[in-house]
Amino acid sequence: MTERTKIILKSGKDQSVKRYHPWIFSGAIKMIYGNPVEGDVVDLFDNEDNFLATGHYQPGSIAVRILSFEQVEPDIGFFYKRISTALDYRRSLGLIDNPGLNIFRLVHAEGDDLPGLIIDYYNGVAVMQTHSIGMYRMRKEISEILTQLLGDRLTAVYDKSEGTIPYMSGIKGVNEFLYGNSGPVTGLEYGYKFIVDWTFGQKTGFFIDQRENRKLLEEYTNRKRVLNMFGYTGAFSVYAMKNAELVHTVDSSAQAIELANENIKLNFGDDKRHQSFNADAFEFLNDIKGKYDLIILDPPAFAKHNNVLANALQGYKRLNMKAIEQIKPGGIIFTFSCSQVVTKENFRKSVFAAAANTGRKVKILHQMSQPPDHPVNIYHPESEYLKGLVLYVE
Ligand code: SAH
Repeated sequence: MTERTKIILKSGKDQSVKRYHPWIFSGAIKMIYGNPVEGDVVDLFDNEDNFLATGHYQPGSIAVRILSFEQVEPDIGFFYKRISTALDYRRSLGLIDNPGLNIFRLVHAEGDDLPGLIIDYYNGVAVMQTHSIGMYRMRKEISEILTQLLGDRLTAVYDKSEGTIPYMSGIKGVNEFLYGNSGPVTGLEYGYKFIVDWTFGQKTGFFIDQRENRKLLEEYTNRKRVLNMFGYTGAFSVYAMKNAELVHTVDSSAQAIELANENIKLNFGDDKRHQSFNADAFEFLNDIKGKYDLIILDPPAFAKHNNVLANALQGYKRLNMKAIEQIKPGGIIFTFSCSQVVTKENFRKSVFAAAANTGRKVKILHQMSQPPDHPVNIYHPESEYLKGLVLYVE
């Protein structure tokens, strides 16, 4: 094993590591022996010099992302094992070689013991995002591993880390193919077709994490008048179109609206039941009293950091209040928050405050989360980021 930087934690600050939490904050560090640069592999020790863990070093608030609680060499063989475990797990979920579904998350960072690494699979194309320099440095090896593990299920690997690697790092990532090449693909989710263009928009191009919630929505849309706010690719709208009386998709991005229209067309042709609106959600909601039976609210993360949490909670409250006020009696609202810093309790409180302000009777029918290909590491509660409620408004 090569000589590595040794990091000693302050006494008492090793508790979270002993409970397998995969992050070390800079304030927990007592001493660093050596001059690690970002992305280096480091070993962690407690104040009595007992080995704790091996991880990737990163100057910043999260100083170390733990890869293993045993002293290991995180080389290509190490990552091969971890990614192959992640793949086997998806196979056990029935996501591999599924004739009706070829869009899924293959690696979900801490949820798959691979902090800082996201890999989504779109009908042959793996789209990868690294959130740490340690993982960014391994990107070519990771791509090589994917070609070995996926064989002819893989046509290309695209690295979309430009916007996700830490901005302080000084390293400028470039979005590029690491293997093969491909234009946008058409993938399948529960038999519905979706065009996925990873070069556009947020995340890796598609919100895979809402799959099971879209499926649930499908059950509620029979003969309903549906409003899909923050529609993006129109994925919720596509599911709603199966049986709804009408579906309206709203997004403030013209490009998103175009994509939503294409996805509707791909599944339902020129179906007049669907209409889209390039508009601001908050404004659109002002003037729809009694027009809709079902409203979906799936906004972008209102809070990316703890210091803007209060504003974000206000934002959720304001948005939900408008929808609860405006929906038809007996209406249903699917409401979500994907901000990691907003807890389930906080989100529920915001929706509660919104409901109370309108004075309408509101029941919670379902509490939603993320699907099993976005697993939550039990030692890292932060990996549970998607929260949703299905509300019934009398
Ligand atoms: N529901 C989507 C994901 C939503 S992503 C899905 O299932 O795939 C958030 C979307 O909200 C983006 O497309 C963004 O363009 C849009 N958006 C952001 N702010 C908005 C606003 N104020 N009004 C309307 N749309 C907005």
